[in-house]
Amino acid sequence: MTRKRTMWGARRREFEEGLRLARAGWQGCIEWRGAVTGSGYGYLWASGKVRHVHILAWEAVNGPIPAGLELDHICRNRLCFNPAHLRLATRSQNAAYAPKRRGGYRSCFKGVEWRSRPPPWRARLRSGGKLIYLGCFPTEEAAARAYDEAAKRFFGEFAWLNFPEGA
Ligand SMILES: [Zn+2]
Repeated sequence: MTRKRTMWGARRREFEEGLRLARAGWQGCIEWRGAVTGSGYGYLWASGKVRHVHILAWEAVNGPIPAGLELDHICRNRLCFNPAHLRLATRSQNAAYAPKRRGGYRSCFKGVEWRSRPPPWRARLRSGGKLIYLGCFPTEEAAARAYDEAAKRFFGEFAWLNFPEGA
């Protein structure tokens, strides 16, 4: 165990305490207070490599992540490493659940882009690397709702909705 301690450095204790809390049934987020990557994930050094803390925590409980799958934060809190807040997802499901990326489109809704011809708001969805056009709409909101409908069909519980709970 001495070897492990040197690999994981000073942050090992925080990691272990977080895991202990999770195993005791803690329901809330367990936020990493150590170093954070540019994309907002907690990390530490293990075996000479930078490893995401949430991945280490999930693997400590469930074993290695199966090939081709990734972890998805159900709670959307990237600092959280409570294994109960993580689930396996394909890359496509993971992208579906992510909030809209910034830049590119002139719409604040996910899955909606503006085009210069009427009707000006186009809904689109990306699935498995393919772009699927869902039609063009006179209003931004109509396009956003069309995206939501399609996202529910394609992604089920992984859908990130512009109007959650049918608001
Ligand atoms: Zn969480």
